[in-house]
Parts: sequence; C-alpha cells; structure tokens
Amino acid sequence: MAVIIDGKAVAAELREEIAGEVAALKEKRGLVPGLAVVLVGQDPASQVYVRMKGKGCDEVGFASFQHMLPSESSREELLSLVQKLNQSPEVNGILVQLPLPKHIDENSVINAIDPGKDVDGFHPVNVGKIVIGDRDCFYPCTPYGCQVLINRHVQSLKGKHLVVVGRSNIVGKPIANMMVQKNDMANCVVTVCHTAAPDIGYYTRQGDILVVAAGRPDTVRGDMIKEGAVVIDVGVNRVPDPADPSKTKLVGDVNFEEAERVASAITPVPGGVGPMTITMLLANTLKAFKLHHGIKA
Ligand code: NAP
Repeated sequence: MAVIIDGKAVAAELREEIAGEVAALKEKRGLVPGLAVVLVGQDPASQVYVRMKGKGCDEVGFASFQHMLPSESSREELLSLVQKLNQSPEVNGILVQLPLPKHIDENSVINAIDPGKDVDGFHPVNVGKIVIGDRDCFYPCTPYGCQVLINRHVQSLKGKHLVVVGRSNIVGKPIANMMVQKNDMANCVVTVCHTAAPDIGYYTRQGDILVVAAGRPDTVRGDMIKEGAVVIDVGVNRVPDPADPSKTKLVGDVNFEEAERVASAITPVPGGVGPMTITMLLANTLKAFKLHHGIKA
C-alpha cells in the first residue's frame, strides 16, 4: 500500500519555519512582510480563499491588507489600486483573486502587477524566468507546493520520468517547466499530456512521478499507474457521497482506492496538495520581502 503524502503536516511545518523567520525579522528590523489580496465581487468560493489567505498571514505574523471592490468596479479602478499597491513599501506581495468579473480582462491586470510583488507567479516575467531556469522569480503556488512534496518523497530526481496530465497555465505548464530545469529540485525527464492524446494511459504508465491536474474525477485509474510511482493528485472535485446521497465529498482526479494499491506514495484529497498552496503563497511573500530589503534568501 502506498505511503500517504501528508500535505497538511508539511504545510504546518513550513508555516512554523516562516513564522520563526518573521519573528526574527520583526525583532531585528522592526518590519514584517505584507501581503495585499484584492477581491472584486462576491464570488463565495473566492471569498473563502481570501479569508483563508488572511488567516494564513495572521498565523505566520505577516501584515495582511484586504481590498474588497464591488463587482461593478471598472478595469481602471482595479488598475489604479494595483498601481498604489505596487508603490506601497508595506506591501511585498500582491494577489488579485481570480476569476475576475467578465468585463475585466485578467491578463491586463496580471501584467500591471510589479513582477517583484507577483507572489502568485502569473506575471509573464515570472513565467519567462521559470522557462529559462532563472530561480530569481516566483513559482505559482500550487505547482510550487507539488514540487516541494515531490522533493520530500523522491530521493534523487535526476533523470526520473515525470508525467503531467493537464496543460493549464496555473498547474500543468508551470509544473512541467519547473521540473524539467537542471537544478537540485528538478532535473526530470518531463512528458505533458492532455485531451488531444488518444490514450493518456500510454504516457501515465511510464511515469515514475505522476502529477494529475485535469479537473475531472477518475481521469487516472489504477491500471494507468506504473508500479511504485509517486502520485501527486492536484484535482479538487465535489461529487455525491456514496455513503450518504444527501451529502457531497471532495475527490481528486485520480481514483485513490485503486491508485494506493499500485503507487509507492500518493497525495490524498483533501489533505495533499491543497494545504500547500496558501503556504507557498506565504513562502513567496517572505521571499519578496527579503528581495525588497536586500536580505539573502
Ligand atoms: P483546467 O484549466 O481545467 O485544465 C485542465 C487540463 O487537464 C487541461 O489542459 C485539459 O486538457 C486536461 N484534461 C482534462 N481532462 C483530461 C483527460 N481526460 N485527459 C487528459 N487531459 C485532460 O484545470 P486546472 O486549473 O489546471 O485545475 C486542474 C484541477 O486542479 C482542478 O480540479 C482544480 O480544481 C484543481 N486545482 C487545485 C488547486 C489546489 O490548490 N489544490 C489549485 C489549482 C487547481 P486540454 O488543455 O486539452 O483541454
């Protein structure tokens, strides 16, 4: 049976480390990292994420600035707030919660964020730096969390075959770009598959490490996994609970019961990749603070 990769425990450990560093910085410099989160509109899921980000900041001792704009706000109003945050010395990281209301072009907002404060890692400058292997950048939080979990469970990544299912700009493409780099946290041989592949099992069965970010339950079944593979399930899907049809439950993109009989290690859903995402946002904000203050990361 596979070892369960406990993302919650790893996230708690990292948050404790971050809190320790923040306490030391506060004592030495009288300053703490600051994260600004901008929410436009009242999407309930986004409101939950923004609250969780605020709680994460409190937990590690960051200053947290939350800006709630009405859904009818114009692109110009949002851009003017982003400019203010770009210039604020108290703000080290800026995150504009996506999705934005349809009348605001997301790319124009992402592009307006100072790349040195883009702790979500979506600005083209950061994307480009990832592609060319410049580590002086911000990795997007979910793939970064996956990379940390992979590194904790695979001894030597050099030459391992990492297969990614999904090619989104948020998960699939960045994790592939990060893991192919020639550095000590990566150096894998990488394959990316998506809906144009006639049979994704052909690829997934070759993966020593499998990262699945498809957004659909049971995209990967047990017979699509190589014996002993490390499986990172990024998916979050709400499905009817077979134990109680009046309820729902969260599942990933991998059939967990089948996969845990074949894999050597696997992330559960919930409790795997999920808890890592906000933690890596906090790690990125601390990194931004250090860069802004000329402190060695
Ligand atoms: P997305 O933008 O919908 O992209 C899904 C990708 O998977 C697409 O590239 C799609 O291929 C591919 N795909 C879908 N079904 C497939 C299949 N049957 N075979 C092969 N490829 C398939 O989704 P995303 O934003 O990357 O998110 C993926 C999942 O991760 C979702 O469940 C999401 O909720 C979850 N997620 C979790 C976190 C977290 O913090 N835990 C963060 C982000 C996302 P095409 O490009 O060909 O359409």
